[in-house]
Amino acid sequence: MTERLYYSDSYRLSFDATVVRSDENDQVHHTVLDRTAFYPTSGGQLHDTGHLGAAPIIDVIDLNGEIVHVSTNPVGQPGDLVEGKIDEARRRRFRQMHTAQHLLSQMVERHCGLPTLSVHLGESYGAIELPGNSIDELSLAAAFDASNLAIAQNTVVSTRFLTPDEAAALPLRKGPSNHDQIRVIQIGEIDYSACGGTHCRSTAEIGLIAHLDTRPQRGNSLVRWLAGDMARDDYWQRLSITRELANELSTSVDHLLSVVSQRLEEATQLRRDKSRLLSELMSSRVTDVVEHRRESASGTWVATEAGDFSGKLTSAFASTIAEAIGGIALVYDGTRVTVASRHDSLSAQGLITELCARSAWRGGGSDSLGNIGPVKPGSWPEFQAIVAELLAGGAS
Ligand SMILES: [Zn+2]
Repeated sequence: MTERLYYSDSYRLSFDATVVRSDENDQVHHTVLDRTAFYPTSGGQLHDTGHLGAAPIIDVIDLNGEIVHVSTNPVGQPGDLVEGKIDEARRRRFRQMHTAQHLLSQMVERHCGLPTLSVHLGESYGAIELPGNSIDELSLAAAFDASNLAIAQNTVVSTRFLTPDEAAALPLRKGPSNHDQIRVIQIGEIDYSACGGTHCRSTAEIGLIAHLDTRPQRGNSLVRWLAGDMARDDYWQRLSITRELANELSTSVDHLLSVVSQRLEEATQLRRDKSRLLSELMSSRVTDVVEHRRESASGTWVATEAGDFSGKLTSAFASTIAEAIGGIALVYDGTRVTVASRHDSLSAQGLITELCARSAWRGGGSDSLGNIGPVKPGSWPEFQAIVAELLAGGAS
């Protein structure tokens, strides 16, 4: 069993210890010490990072009471004395999140009448899983408000080791596993929980707990939130984004929502206008192009350039022309030729295959629509000449 220094002091960031065991597997080193301040991933809380000597610690595992430090560099041999250093910012974030979680779970019990089924304290957010898939949003908001009030009141958080009998006398929200000594985290008179994690000395250190969202999970609800440094960093990020957006839209943050909503309405109207104008333009151009249709032994065909049309509109343009002439339409966009066919016996794919056989073009498609290319701008007249020759020969 490794002595856990973080049990009695969640603020301890450096320590000396003796290597008890060291193994190497696939260039990953596993080191067990006689004692450690490194917190191993457990109870929903992620592990600490830091250094043992010069070796960065990338993972910490609780293996049947032994704490295993994982590193890519060797730490030392059994009997060696090593110095451990914990990454301070990460430890502080988890202390804040874990204490915030105790408070929130207590307040959710009081305001929503729901127990916490599981806890996630990760690198980008904290979460508690609550039973059922319909959490009352007002009650949840009240639980967050009550948690923030307890944070602002600078409530003392204490850690005590009790016997099972002593612990049984407390109104524990979260009961202990079977141990002779039970570690109880007490937040003022607000919450008592048996817990092995790292916590703050006072709720004031949390600063803020903010609701992110509530998502469905396994038929239950996952309430995601941010606390402490993570909530503050998130606040600055959101502030910077809203300021930048406000600047882009030449307004203030206060008026951002109404300005964005107005711009979205304008954009919808512009899209409708554009679609109507393009449709009118297409009708007019189709009429014009159809007048220049050519007759051949293989049927009616026409070749034209895409002009203002691009992407899907080029395909629609080609298809509309083919429909109007009951034959083949070829529309060039400067790179490729879109081929549409409404011919009785010559499909778009059939024509593309024959054209590819005559030059280095590549292409494909369906009976009614396809593409062929690349056709360089200077080669477009030559391309049309080849099509004319092919269709004059009675291709089908
Ligand atoms: Zn805890």
